[in-house]
Amino acid sequence: MYWYTDCPKCNQGRLILMKNLSSNTFHVHCEECETGYRTPEDVAKNRGFLTLEEEFEAEPVKEPDTVIASWAGQTFRPYI
Ligand SMILES: [Zn+2]
Repeated sequence: MYWYTDCPKCNQGRLILMKNLSSNTFHVHCEECETGYRTPEDVAKNRGFLTLEEEFEAEPVKEPDTVIASWAGQTFRPYI
């Protein structure tokens, strides 16, 4: 798993990089408050969505080199 930065909403959890298996898009997901962010801009502006209300299957990304679209070029850290 990989993470992006600390959650701007709760300031406690790390934002885990996730892949949405139905739309093939990426987002980050707070391990503490379950808030999701679809783009780096959403993280910067604290514009999250509640992942528990979304109806999709997602899994943690194992290899960040495969990340595309809005997250391309961002730096992710190994989750230890
Ligand atoms: Zn959070």
